[in-house]
Amino acid sequence: AKDHGRNHFQFFSSEMNERMQERVMLDEALRSAIANDELLLHYQPLVSLSTGQLVGLETLVRWQHPVFGMVSPVRFIPIAEESALIASISEWVLRKACQDIRTWIDQGLTGFQVAVNVSPRQFRDPRLADRIELVLAEYHINPGMLSLEITETVLMQDTASSEATLRQLKALGVDLALDDFGTGYSSLSYLKRFPFDRVKIDRSFVRDITTDADDAAISKAIISMAHSLGIRVVAEGVETAAQCQFLRRHRCDEMQGYYFSRPLPPVEITALLLEKRHL
Ligand code: C2E
Ligand code: CA
Ligand code: CA
Ligand code: CA
Repeated sequence: AKDHGRNHFQFFSSEMNERMQERVMLDEALRSAIANDELLLHYQPLVSLSTGQLVGLETLVRWQHPVFGMVSPVRFIPIAEESALIASISEWVLRKACQDIRTWIDQGLTGFQVAVNVSPRQFRDPRLADRIELVLAEYHINPGMLSLEITETVLMQDTASSEATLRQLKALGVDLALDDFGTGYSSLSYLKRFPFDRVKIDRSFVRDITTDADDAAISKAIISMAHSLGIRVVAEGVETAAQCQFLRRHRCDEMQGYYFSRPLPPVEITALLLEKRHL
C-alpha cells in the first residue's frame, strides 16, 4: 500500500511538472504572438428575443500558433494575466475590434453593439478609461457602440475602487455588462450598487435550464430582479430550441449561443450583417 502511495505521488508530481512546463512554453510563445501576427478575433452574435435581429457581437480572441495549433483563450488568458502580457493582448484586442467596427460603420453596417471582455488585471489598471477613450477617438467610434464585459469575481476584490472605476467607464459613455453572472458570490444587490446596463446569465445555468429546477429558478430570479432595476438580461451558451423557448417565456432580452451562431471571423460577420437575416 505504501509503494502504491509513492507511485501515486510520483504520477501527480510528473503531471504537475508537465503542466508547469507547458505553462512556461506557452508563456514564452505568447510573448511573440502579437509581433508574429498569431492573434485573431472572432465575433459571436447576440440576438434580440423580441425581434430575432442581431443586436450585438462579443469579441473573442483566438491564438493560432504555428506548432501548437489553435490555443483556447481559456488556456492562454490566465497565463497572460499572471504577467504584463495581458496589457498588450488587451490593447491589441481593443484596437483590432475598433478597426473592425470602423470597417463595418464605413460599409453602413450599424445598429449593434460590440462587446469586449475586460480581464481582472486590466480592470485594475488606473489608465483603463483613458486608454479606451483614446482608442475610440482614434477610430471615431461613438462610445455607446462599445460594451465592456466584466466578471463579477473581479468586483468583489475591492468593491469601493471597483465602483469608482465603473462610474468612470460609464461617464465615458460605454455600456457595461456583468459577465458570468451567478458563478461568483456576489448577491443581486451588486446590480443595484453598480451601474450595469446588462447582466449575462452564465452558461452553466443556461445548460440545464429546462431540466434542473434550481437552475430554472435562479435564471428566473436573475431576470425579474434585473428587470425591476432596469437592467437588460443576456443568456449565454444557448444551444437548443427548448432553452430558447424557456428564456423567451421568462422575458430574457438577448441570447447568445451555438443555437444562433458560433463565434465567426470578421468576414463572415460582415456577410451576416449584409444579409440582415434573422438568426
Ligand atoms: P466568456 O466571456 O464567458 O465567453 C463565452 C465563451 O462561451 C466563449 O468561449 C464562447 O465561444 C463560448 N460559447 C458561446 N456560445 C456557446 C454555446 O452555445 N455553448 C458552449 N458550450 N460554449 C459557447 P471562448 O471563445 O473559448 O472564450 C472563453 C473565455 O476566454 C471567455 O469566456 C472569456 O472569459 C475569455 N476571453 C475570450 N476572449 C477574451 C479577450 O479578448 N479578453 C479577455 N480578457 N478574455 C477573453
Ligand atoms: Ca464575456
Ligand atoms: Ca460569459
Ligand atoms: Ca462563462
